[in-house]
Amino acid sequence: MLNQMKTYQMYIGGQWVLASDNQTRKITDPANGNLIGVVPEATVMEVNEAVAAARNAFDNTNWGSADNALNRAQLMMALANKLRENAAKFAELDTLNCGKPLVESEGDVADSANCLDFFAGLATKTMGETVAVPMNMQSMVVREPIGVVAQIVPWNYPLLMGVWKIAPALAAGCTIVMKPSELTPLSILELAKLTEEVGIPAGVVNIITGIGEVAGAALVNHPDIDKIAFTGGTDTGMKVMTAAAKGIKNVTLELGGKNPVVVFADANLDKSAEWIAFAGMANQGQVCSAGSRILVEKSVYNEVIERVAKIVTHIKLGHGLDEGVRMGPVISKEQQDKVMSYIEKAKAEKCRLICGGSLPKGEQFAKGNFIEPTIFADVEPHHTLFKEEVFGPVMSFTSFDTEDEAVKLANDTEYGLAAGVFTESVTKAHRVVKQIRAGIIWVNNYHPTFNELPWGGYKKSGIGRELGKYGIEAYLETKQININLDEGQLGWY
Ligand code: NDP
Repeated sequence: MLNQMKTYQMYIGGQWVLASDNQTRKITDPANGNLIGVVPEATVMEVNEAVAAARNAFDNTNWGSADNALNRAQLMMALANKLRENAAKFAELDTLNCGKPLVESEGDVADSANCLDFFAGLATKTMGETVAVPMNMQSMVVREPIGVVAQIVPWNYPLLMGVWKIAPALAAGCTIVMKPSELTPLSILELAKLTEEVGIPAGVVNIITGIGEVAGAALVNHPDIDKIAFTGGTDTGMKVMTAAAKGIKNVTLELGGKNPVVVFADANLDKSAEWIAFAGMANQGQVCSAGSRILVEKSVYNEVIERVAKIVTHIKLGHGLDEGVRMGPVISKEQQDKVMSYIEKAKAEKCRLICGGSLPKGEQFAKGNFIEPTIFADVEPHHTLFKEEVFGPVMSFTSFDTEDEAVKLANDTEYGLAAGVFTESVTKAHRVVKQIRAGIIWVNNYHPTFNELPWGGYKKSGIGRELGKYGIEAYLETKQININLDEGQLGWY
């Protein structure tokens, strides 16, 4: 058990540094407000230093060169193994810092290590091609690292979201400046220590801690950044994309979702109910892919609500480190207020409250940002809860009559990240999956995420894909080379 509050430093150019003006930020446990760490609050000066360090490592070392790919792969696998050796510490730290149940953090750490291994495997497999062209040329296409990348990650998966970005960038041969969320920087700073221990060269991975409006904005606007990879809210995503546009920088965005889960009457309800509850409530509902909009065929509508509500009302709330807890606090008081304002709005708009809807009572919840897992029924397309991402433990239920109506409701959103379909009919599942405009679709399950498969959204859920073979593409440039095989004169002039 981590019981000592630690003072952290940022990692820039292989050095551990404080902010130039010595400003710091207190990091607290969202379950009880306890101080768990103090981190530097980066100024623009440290952002510039970090970008300069990454630029130097990219431009003046062989880190990104093709003949260093095997070395990069080996360093990444060493990092994955170090992470596994320290898995318990990392899981505990993420639970303390962002509130999620320990069992979820343990899964995140295991996934992070596997993600490093997966992309280590791809580091040595960035293949080009030769192409026949209508002149006497040897023409080829080669892939090269895109350069210095700015990576900005949110608070809902502090370690995993960081690794999803660091791993493909390292494999491709890029150098990195990462800014974790101001609320959850601890596990990424600990990971930076492991990068140093395994011998990833100075300047390749740089971590700055600070706030989005200062450090984040300075980073994405920096002229020496070649690519921006961002995960977070859609409004911030727009600002990041604007910065990218100004600098004509390559950008990938992983934004929000208001993800539908379509439940047909022929679904196996015994098996489906728990998946549906998990879709909406995992990580306190603070998941971009949370299945928060449950669309149920009318003949089983009340039964599904009843079954899911029964599961949800029995979720054990508490500190994520406590035995049996399956729901912790939301990340901050601000987030708690935001989620509660959505709950109040749903009540005011006359959505039918099935369970939850309040802050839990009891001494153990008094100092934390807890919210009762909440379900509303009879939520219609014009209701706020149907349209806006809550990012908390709140699910809405809506009924439908026909398959066409189900698809229409599922697509009635500006987002397109994920969706679920529950049915025992293979043909129906395929028909519906084909019509839903979303980047990730689960049938008769929800949430399993694989390093091997692309992750990202349609519509306002983002641009580009992380993970899978697509994940490394986001960090590679494409160069065509034409070698003249003709010995003769050009003869043009
Ligand atoms: P943000 O989008 O504000 O934060 C994500 C990251 O961007 C953080 O590291 C943040 O830093 C940084 N950031 C903020 N402003 C800027 C900026 N101007 N330039 C560059 N970087 C910036 O998410 P919030 O934490 O405020 O959450 C708001 C909402 O976003 C949530 O309620 C949820 O709806 C959604 N969200 C979606 C996520 C997803 O996975 N798709 C993840 C998290 C949130 P800092 O922490 O200092 O603000």
